[in-house]
Amino acid sequence: MSAGPGSAQGQVQALVLEAPRELERHELPLPDVGDDDGILRVEACGLCGTDHELYTGVIAPGFPFVPGHETVGVIEAVGDRAASRWGVAVGDRVAVEVFLSCGKCEPCRQGEYRRCRRHGLAGMYGMISTAKAPGLWGGYATYQYLAPDSRLLPVPGSLPPEVAVAFNPLGAGIRWAVTVPGTRPGDVVAVLGCGIRGLSAAAAAKAAGAAFVMVTGAGPHDHARLAEAARFGADLAVDVLEEDPVARLRAAAGVRGADVVVDVTAKAPAAFAQGVALARAGGTMVVAGTRGGGGTPGFDPDHVVYKELRLQGALGVDTSDYRAALDLLARGTYPFADLPRVTVGLDGASELLETMAGERGVPPVHAVLIP
Ligand SMILES: [Zn+2]
Ligand SMILES: [Zn+2]
Repeated sequence: MSAGPGSAQGQVQALVLEAPRELERHELPLPDVGDDDGILRVEACGLCGTDHELYTGVIAPGFPFVPGHETVGVIEAVGDRAASRWGVAVGDRVAVEVFLSCGKCEPCRQGEYRRCRRHGLAGMYGMISTAKAPGLWGGYATYQYLAPDSRLLPVPGSLPPEVAVAFNPLGAGIRWAVTVPGTRPGDVVAVLGCGIRGLSAAAAAKAAGAAFVMVTGAGPHDHARLAEAARFGADLAVDVLEEDPVARLRAAAGVRGADVVVDVTAKAPAAFAQGVALARAGGTMVVAGTRGGGGTPGFDPDHVVYKELRLQGALGVDTSDYRAALDLLARGTYPFADLPRVTVGLDGASELLETMAGERGVPPVHAVLIP
């Protein structure tokens, strides 16, 4: 194997979530690297809704674990076989995909690697117990373990780490607003939700040639985000608590409804019926946001019949979408570098996660940990 200069120093600073709201700093040994694995020096780890739901215990995998699944860093050490398989060398900057993939099982061979039988949805980075050696399975640490089944993406050196971690939400935006619905140039696209995934979906749709993009939010907490939407490709931003989004879309775009509706809301049960109302007859609606219970108030399934809507669920992101996201970030078409962003070190993680959970004022649009 080949090792980088820091690998002999031997200690890793890691945050371990031992139970909900118990995020403790630990010093762990830097693992040895064999032929098939590697070590990443973490530069930045993006945080999303999953992070604060893990922190508060809404999602509870097997504790304890090192959270963090949106990591960008530099290869610190890598085995020879791993280096050739991943196409990397010590010193390369890479992003780590959240899902691990064996490459051999039936779903992996069919390209459905997020449903890998060996790893699957539960065996993703940022949720694996520290009891599984070497324990460093997340980005809330100075170093992250790169297991043999990791999937790595090259990151342009020009991108600052806190911007590069946006490969994750922007990859989702590209997949959910363009790849899955098959968005074409000239389409009218309505994005429900104005967090970083909503802004990313708007940017992705516009970059794909959408003629008109609308973004919605709900309530005063979303006003700063809606104000950002124009810089991310939106032609129209609407607070659905103040205005009727269907009337606004018709008036502004001069159409009966949207060709493509993308729902990236979180815990907004009413968004589903709004999406159905916004879609044109024969349109497509991608459901990527989860209700978190609460049903679908106002939703009448008959509208799906009369409009002949195509409803499509979307979960996760594929490698090709992540690569497209990194390309789009590097081109600088949209101001991801200027996103309203809160960046903290390891010691500020708990407070930031509580803010993201809505317990300490307005959550930031983009939250990043620099360990
Ligand atoms: Zn995430
Ligand atoms: Zn597999």
